[in-house]
Amino acid sequence: MLDETTLIWLVAGLLVLVFMLPYYLKHRKAERKAEAALEKVQAQGGAEPASLHPVVNPNICIGAANCMAVCPEKDVLGLIAGQAVTINATHCVGHGLCERSCPVEAIQLVLGTAKRGVDIPRIQENFETNEDGIYVVGELGGMGLIRNAFEQARQCVEGIVQEKKRTPDDAYDVLIVGCGPAGLAASLNCLHHNLRFVTIEKEDIGGTVRYYPRRKLVMTFPIHVPGYGKLTFKQISKEDLIATWEDIIAQTNVDAHIRTGEMFEGAERGRDGLFVVRTSQSTYTTRRIVLAIGRRGIPRKLGVSGENSPNVAYSLLEPDQYQQCRVTVVGGGDSAIEAALALSEQPGNDVRLSYRKAKFSRLKPLNQERIEDAIMNGRINFLRETNLTEITEASVTYRGAEGESHTLPNDYVFIFAGGTLPTAMLKDLGITIDTKFGEPLRA
Ligand SMILES: Cc1cc2nc3c(=O)[nH]c(=O)nc-3n(C[C@H](O)[C@H](O)[C@H](O)COP(=O)(O)OP(=O)(O)OC[C@H]3O[C@@H](n4cnc5c(N)ncnc54)[C@H](O)[C@@H]3O)c2cc1C
Ligand code: SF4
Repeated sequence: MLDETTLIWLVAGLLVLVFMLPYYLKHRKAERKAEAALEKVQAQGGAEPASLHPVVNPNICIGAANCMAVCPEKDVLGLIAGQAVTINATHCVGHGLCERSCPVEAIQLVLGTAKRGVDIPRIQENFETNEDGIYVVGELGGMGLIRNAFEQARQCVEGIVQEKKRTPDDAYDVLIVGCGPAGLAASLNCLHHNLRFVTIEKEDIGGTVRYYPRRKLVMTFPIHVPGYGKLTFKQISKEDLIATWEDIIAQTNVDAHIRTGEMFEGAERGRDGLFVVRTSQSTYTTRRIVLAIGRRGIPRKLGVSGENSPNVAYSLLEPDQYQQCRVTVVGGGDSAIEAALALSEQPGNDVRLSYRKAKFSRLKPLNQERIEDAIMNGRINFLRETNLTEITEASVTYRGAEGESHTLPNDYVFIFAGGTLPTAMLKDLGITIDTKFGEPLRA
């Protein structure tokens, strides 16, 4: 017979077990999921993030798990062995919600890693660089997020307005490069203050936001839009955000000052300290340049006939948009391989991979394994030692190793031939760059 004390302990133990078991099982399931995700990232060669991302200090972390609860992005952080761990830092978009949610300040957002430095232009409080009259706003300056891009661009133009420097009648007060969130906000504020300005955008208005996956939920903060008012939403779908911007553009007519499909190529300082700016289509004289070009860089083109056709792209966002079609992927790096594999998994696709070399080199181990398997099993037709020479809306023509020419029926072309990061362009403009190796943006 159990005595009364033992019985009380037994019942108490049972109650604890009943209440704690579901919590423990849920916790273990989350841990197993995090372990599997981390294993997958490591098997692919690890994630070397090109922008802000969280680093957890294991000596401080108490496993409160608030960071995971608040992070809206997939698999950035996970809980392993009772502590927060960065799983895939490349998925972080830099909200900083994790950093702010941690009760013991164990998380810090940093730029770059010990292995991979990130180049950041040095800027002053008014967003001017070491080059008089050249400003940097938005993600290019190291701070991501739509709200930051808007606010920095607004403040930058407010500062310019205070300068009251006279510009000759045949020159612009401001030339803005890029029309993502930062360039759009700079343009709207220039319009609001009646500045003479022009905005050069190599693609279309909207910047990186246009490249988000369909229906992505965008997290943001209230934004003050110059000349329009306040946007108060904190969450909005990508499509609704773009629709809101289109409404702002229609109401303000700011697009009369925006030249889309035109690329900034460089600038020289000429008479009276004014800049002569070269673009893909024209030259402009301006007193100031506001660089709002983000950090995505410019994809390298092949320079072949038909490359400007609408069926040619330099990134693959949503493979499921391409089914029952003939696709040619160009390149031999991880991005090309991942795109070719993703497309080959869609129903009915005929996928070819054109690469100028005979073998792949320096691929992530898992990509190497998967592409070899896909080629061997005929899911991807590897056109080794080939170079595309012509693209049309219904075909691709390529030259083989012996110089022979082949034409194949084709629907879409995805080109992954590397790209130029903005750093070289910034250096050409004389802007000082700091390289961050896992350090906070501002020390
Ligand atoms: C997948 C993903 C999800 C994200 N989710 C969120 C989120 O939920 N909330 C949030 O606040 N932020 C999010 N972000 C971050 C946010 O999109 C960026 O911080 C923001 O777009 C930066 O704005 P920007 O204007 O500085 O640069 P960008 O948006 O990159 O715009 C730069 C523009 O400059 C143009 N350009 C570049 N070079 C030239 C040139 N030489 N000549 C002419 N034009 C040029 C480009 O074509 C582009 O249109 C996310 C980012 C990604 C990648
Ligand atoms: S900064 Fe934002 S996206 Fe990055 S881990 Fe923290 S909450 Fe997630």
